Amino acid sequence: MEPAATPPGPARAGVDGAAAGSAGPTEADWAAAVAAVRRLPADGRVLLICHVNPDGDALGSMLGFGLGLRRLGVDRLQATFPGPPEVPEPFRGLPGLELLVPAAAADPEPDLVICFDAASESRLGELAGRLTGTGIALVLDHHASNTGFGDVNLVDPAAAATSVVAEELLARLGVSLDAGIAECLYVALSTDTGSFRFDATTVAVHEMAARLLATGIRPGDISRRIFDSRPFGAVRLFGEVLGRARLEPAAAAGHGLVWTYATLDDLARHDQRPYVLEALIDPVRCTAEADVSCVVKQTGPAEWAVSLRSKGAVDVSRVAVALGGGGHRLAAGFTGRGTVDEVVDRIRTELAVPATRGDIDKQR
Ligand code: 5GP
Ligand code: MN
Repeated sequence: MEPAATPPGPARAGVDGAAAGSAGPTEADWAAAVAAVRRLPADGRVLLICHVNPDGDALGSMLGFGLGLRRLGVDRLQATFPGPPEVPEPFRGLPGLELLVPAAAADPEPDLVICFDAASESRLGELAGRLTGTGIALVLDHHASNTGFGDVNLVDPAAAATSVVAEELLARLGVSLDAGIAECLYVALSTDTGSFRFDATTVAVHEMAARLLATGIRPGDISRRIFDSRPFGAVRLFGEVLGRARLEPAAAAGHGLVWTYATLDDLARHDQRPYVLEALIDPVRCTAEADVSCVVKQTGPAEWAVSLRSKGAVDVSRVAVALGGGGHRLAAGFTGRGTVDEVVDRIRTELAVPATRGDIDKQR
């Protein structure tokens, strides 16, 4: 065990972002989380889980924290996520990938389960049952809609990424940052802040980035790998899918909607894997004439993964929750069923419903 480090203080958003009821973990929560790790028996088994279709924050906070646990001497340690055990290409250089096992091979009865970046058990697919076993379930997250499904919940809606919570817990456990941990947490922080562009990019976020960079990691190399590399087939696919985007200026009570879709056939024609579509929302949401942007990605015969973004005028988490999903005010998603037109029709209808103050408070 390493000497205790001074907790760095979380990279929380400003007071404006923290509404009543979204105050983040209490000192008692932090103490319970630290105790859950410290009380592990010498041969204690730990299972780390993140959400289905893991993104940079899910994988980065999970693997970074896993590398930290390794430093504490925890060696019966697995990391996993539900669904196909395929790591998206941009994340295949992450340190700590050796901790990953397919969901089917994950420890059925760990002493401690730690869950990253998932707002609810439904985001854990076939792994959801692992949290109700005999072991302790610890939840690290930053979604305001988190249902508090762990025994101990470290949920900070004011944190820019789950990695902010992970860094704080590592510090409280006395684990100092090394380059491996830092690279994972940097990938998580930079993806969830849109490369330090979104409103959640506070002074504290930059201070956390500075602590991570101080370990010697190379932001240029990391960013190129994560944001600026894709197969040529994906470039051509994006061209086609962007070419069919539709702008509806009157939608969302005049704030405007821009949307497009990609089918499994589009992927097959360009010989691409589904993960390449995760980046598609970025060129779509650039559309100046629309506050709301949407990409509808086919995942099965009549099933679609829907990504929603807002520039601020519309709370898209309200739309996503109404349609069975979740997320944040400016970035949310859900699973849509039926045809593309049916899915987009439902979005249009929800966007037309004026938000009440009560709805907004519930989302926070
Ligand atoms: P993305 O569009 O990048 O897939 O997701 C944006 C945000 O929406 C994520 O941070 C996640 O919280 C939320 N989200 C996306 N898809 C779903 C879903 O199917 N269910 C829930 N509950 N949340 C989702
Ligand atoms: Mn996140």
